[in-house]
Amino acid sequence: MLDKYNNFCFTCLLVLVLLLGGCAGEERNGSRIRVLATTSILGDVLSNILPDTFEVRSLMGPGVDPHLYKATQGDVEQLSSADLIVYNGLHLEGKMAEILNRLSGSGKAFAFAESLDKRRLRLLDSSGHIYDPHIWLDVRRQIMATEELIRYLRSRYPFAEAEIRERGLLYLNELTALDIWCRESIGSLPDSARILVTSHDAFSYFGQAYNFEVRSLVGVSTLAEAGLRDVTELVNYLAEHRVKAIFIENSVSPKALRSVVEGCMRKGHVVRIGGELYSDALGDTQSKAGTYKGMIEHNINQIVGALQ
Ligand SMILES: [Zn+2]
Repeated sequence: MLDKYNNFCFTCLLVLVLLLGGCAGEERNGSRIRVLATTSILGDVLSNILPDTFEVRSLMGPGVDPHLYKATQGDVEQLSSADLIVYNGLHLEGKMAEILNRLSGSGKAFAFAESLDKRRLRLLDSSGHIYDPHIWLDVRRQIMATEELIRYLRSRYPFAEAEIRERGLLYLNELTALDIWCRESIGSLPDSARILVTSHDAFSYFGQAYNFEVRSLVGVSTLAEAGLRDVTELVNYLAEHRVKAIFIENSVSPKALRSVVEGCMRKGHVVRIGGELYSDALGDTQSKAGTYKGMIEHNINQIVGALQ
């Protein structure tokens, strides 16, 4: 029933946004330009880049799983009243993918991860259409997509071009420093300890970037639940490779991963929960992980501390 209602609203919304299109790039008299991000991570990126003449909001709050998120009635109102929508794309926002793709086609939305060259993306199927959406967990890929976003915003809002360029450059410099810090911190871990095991397959780009073997209980989307076979296979892998710690995620239930810990115990291999990583959403706004930079720093500290 709710889906039917949402579909109806989305159809109305599409008509509305197409009718309201065409005013992009114009400076508002008095009111701020409303930019709506889907995830909290993208909301933080936009807040860093855009000056005060823009109002940035995020649809999904801290800890919300974007794979499972369904738009509420309030979200539909926000989507229709936003001047610009910035979303990750590559099916991260699985339940909202259709409306977001259509909005992107109408010029009202920008797909952050889809701005990357396909050669930088991990292909997940043989048809060549499904890619891993979790680019933000590799800071270098995040920098590349942020450069594309800055380019897009500068061209879309010429009246704020200089400010966006200046703020964007400062932010890109911060991200470059963050990437260097990640590499230095991880440098203390021996290669044999670089096995990262989490709930869902979000850390593949992270693994490529920072030289980790990556394993997870479920796939790239959290839609599928772990079965007994998934648990058994992961338990065998952990015991065979003598992995010391595995990690729960802030946007995924820790229940299935706890059964992996118990399975290892029964097999005589002690593995512990090494902490909570921020995978698909930021932490609370007041916490250290309330920003993209903070979430990456937190993750690296947890990983290095637990696997040392
Ligand atoms: Zn994910």
